[in-house]
Amino acid sequence: MSADRELSEETRLIHLGRSQPMEGVRPVSPPVVRTSTVLAPDIATMRANKARREDGSRVFSYGARGTPTNHALEEAWAALEGGERALLFPTGLAAIAHVLLTCLLPGSHVLIQNTVYPQVHAIRSKFLDPRGIASTYFDGTVEDAAAKITPATRMIYAENPGSWVYDLIDVKALSTLAHDHNALLVIDNTWASGLLHKPLLHGADISVIAGTKYVVGHSDVMMGAVVANGELGRELWRMQVVMGQTVSPDDAWLTLRGLRTIAARLPIHASGALRIARFLQDHPLVERVLHPALESHPRHDLWRRDFTGANGLLTIGMRPDLDLAAVDRFVDTLRLFGIGSSWGGFESLALPQAPDTVRGWTGPGVPVRLHIGLENPADLEADLARGLAAIG
Ligand SMILES: *Cc1c(COP(=O)(O)O)cnc(C)c1O
Repeated sequence: MSADRELSEETRLIHLGRSQPMEGVRPVSPPVVRTSTVLAPDIATMRANKARREDGSRVFSYGARGTPTNHALEEAWAALEGGERALLFPTGLAAIAHVLLTCLLPGSHVLIQNTVYPQVHAIRSKFLDPRGIASTYFDGTVEDAAAKITPATRMIYAENPGSWVYDLIDVKALSTLAHDHNALLVIDNTWASGLLHKPLLHGADISVIAGTKYVVGHSDVMMGAVVANGELGRELWRMQVVMGQTVSPDDAWLTLRGLRTIAARLPIHASGALRIARFLQDHPLVERVLHPALESHPRHDLWRRDFTGANGLLTIGMRPDLDLAAVDRFVDTLRLFGIGSSWGGFESLALPQAPDTVRGWTGPGVPVRLHIGLENPADLEADLARGLAAIG
């Protein structure tokens, strides 16, 4: 099925990683297979499986290496990202950590985009620094990366786009720079979640995704993935076995259920977010609105070139004379927006934050990030209008 390239993506996502026949028929979804021990019919089969596993092949040989439930999700996820191999991790952060800790050796150097997911800074200070792995921040542009790359650079790590100001990067140009220096380009692809952008098809070597967001889509599972091709994918997998990283088949099953509908859900999030973005752009209490699908977005051109759509995230900058307390009051007044971090579920969220703590935020006004869920956007718009009126 995965080789069936002439089928559209929506169709492939429905048919990939489906169940095997049992008792002559089959259920729609693969069963949740829970096990530690995997019983072989004889010693020869067991030894052959072990040899294949050491060769880097995915084999159902022990619970920690993933059961057929995990394998079904891996197959579908690799197809979603346009890659050969997907590996599953208990969180998005664990996926990021696996890539940084297994691909970088003492003495090497990594360029890290300065607006990446905040916990990456902690990995840098707690793990890379003490182990003699040098790192330098760059601003996401190819020019800055080219000025800072060194002969020791083995990786460029970036997020495309970040989830507050949606700072888009030129993956193709960065991959050329990285490969000219014998370095890997790693992209955190959580915003696009594989559906809207496929970094590996634009020259990146590794895509990491917090499945917790749109792939799961229901705010009820933590999940991460790493997607890579060829020997790199096999090596990342061997290191996953070394480190004992695995995910529960129950979580894999729920994530596969979420993945089935991602192509149906994301356009609804995106059209709701665009409508709300336009509404807020015209509101007198709002200074500016950031969302890549708006023509006013600074890198709208790159979004049009490299992405096939948008998602439900947008960030508003409130009018500069409104302080954080006033903005907090606005959010507290909302009835349909939950107050919480993360995003990608069916529900709308609002999160105000002090400007100096928001990565990549410049200019006046307190930022509020909205996640537009699957509610009717007219209801959300009325709720926002009421909230703004309360502080106006
Ligand atoms: C949420 C997020 C992560 C971390 O994912 P968890 O599953 O919460 O660990 C990493 N990168 C980005 C861009 C995210 O939004």
